[in-house]
Amino acid sequence: MGFFTKDIKTMNDLFMHGLQDLYYAENQIAKSLPEMIEKATNPQLRAGFEKHLSETEGQIQRLQQVFEVLDAEPKGERCPAIDGILKEGRDLMGEIDDEDVMNVGLVAAAQAVEHYEITRYGALMAWASELGRGDCIPLLKANLAEEKATDKKLTALAERRVNPQGEKKSEGEKKPAKRASSTARRKPKSQARPAAKSKRSNGAKKARRRA
Ligand code: FE
Ligand code: FE
Ligand code: FE
Repeated sequence: MGFFTKDIKTMNDLFMHGLQDLYYAENQIAKSLPEMIEKATNPQLRAGFEKHLSETEGQIQRLQQVFEVLDAEPKGERCPAIDGILKEGRDLMGEIDDEDVMNVGLVAAAQAVEHYEITRYGALMAWASELGRGDCIPLLKANLAEEKATDKKLTALAERRVNPQGEKKSEGEKKPAKRASSTARRKPKSQARPAAKSKRSNGAKKARRRA
């Protein structure tokens, strides 16, 4: 990087920069997920994070394939956006004690990550198409589909306020703190309904809650 030149001159440079940025981001995400898995006490959330960690490992491989298709070395370029999003998530985890509040915070932190990834994959796919590099698109699209599916599942969990073990008997004493934390709860905490059903019947509520 010099004073008189700029590194990104062409659409192709921009595309390569974006790819390297995302390669870095996916690698950082893969490093961060184990900590999120550890902190998640909600079984579905934990299972979701575990699944997404293995998906993320596959996504990194797909990005390596994209580099290969382009005849380029897989290389990461530091992405301050994902660094910031992940740092915010870590800071938040450090501030929360209550398990239920932690689960809710983790869902939101993870959604920030997914949304970032979704915007980047969208841009990369558009640029690949503009550059006549349709050969990269299926790989990028496969990653994007996983990010979107993950985001959807996180939304479903947020709608149920990740609340499952409402009745943790052993933690009876902690209940007061828990209640104070759930300000917008409208549904009884116990008995989360079946995941697949709740999504559909819950469309209107979703809009209200996320507003
Ligand atoms: Fe990803
Ligand atoms: Fe970035
Ligand atoms: Fe993701």
